[in-house]
Amino acid sequence: MTFRRIRILLLLGVLVAAIGLTQLEQFMVRGWRAPLDVAVIPINGDGSSAASETIRTLQAGDFEEINTFIVRETTRYGVKQSPAMQLTLLPELKTQPPVPPRDGSALKTMWWSLKLRWWVYRQSGEWLPQLGKIKLYVLYHAPQEGVALEHSLGLQKGLIGVVHAFADARQTQQNNIVIAHELMHTLGATDKYDAEGRPLYPQGYAEPDLPQLMPRHEAEIMAGRLVNAAGRLVMPLSLDQCVIGSMTAHEINLDEGFRQRFSSGR
Ligand SMILES: [Zn+2]
Repeated sequence: MTFRRIRILLLLGVLVAAIGLTQLEQFMVRGWRAPLDVAVIPINGDGSSAASETIRTLQAGDFEEINTFIVRETTRYGVKQSPAMQLTLLPELKTQPPVPPRDGSALKTMWWSLKLRWWVYRQSGEWLPQLGKIKLYVLYHAPQEGVALEHSLGLQKGLIGVVHAFADARQTQQNNIVIAHELMHTLGATDKYDAEGRPLYPQGYAEPDLPQLMPRHEAEIMAGRLVNAAGRLVMPLSLDQCVIGSMTAHEINLDEGFRQRFSSGR
């Protein structure tokens, strides 16, 4: 066999292994058999002292609301797992993940997602990829009047979330909503809002059986907003005001998890 052939075979092997590992990871996290293994890695997003201070005082308990939310919502779908996640807060990371392409062309996006996965692997400092571990990189930014944060994102392949959050203790609950949203993406959930940010009806609404125009008190987590009694589009105050709708539940495999759980051992 020539070197060229060996090299091609090796590359193919790596590719097959990568695809296999991705599927294995999805099988692990979407089976709802054990608490989700979640690592939060804080990053100073803007080099500000507010971000340094937030990161310095950060504790794993600051994310407990997310666990409570997942326990409550998965229980509604018959999958009781308490705790729903085992969260580890890792030390601050001094590098930033590759920035996604602005124009969103398919090829550039693909290349960027490969770069991101490579970056995640490199910074983990491990030889082998950490199978089944959901990695949430939280970039903290000092709040600035009238300046919106960059879009956060969550990738199912590689179980990676990149979250832009506010370095402000008063924003902890809002940050946790965004983190929970991106966490759901890593499990396969899709967005449920339109180009203007309005929830899609019915899948982006809490209590989707009610008419669309009826005001809601809760938001579907993948829509991230609700239309209140004044007809205004608002963010929920905290995860207490968020639900996992039935379409999201299906996407993150809660119904299958439920089925497996109650048909096993018979
Ligand atoms: Zn989203």
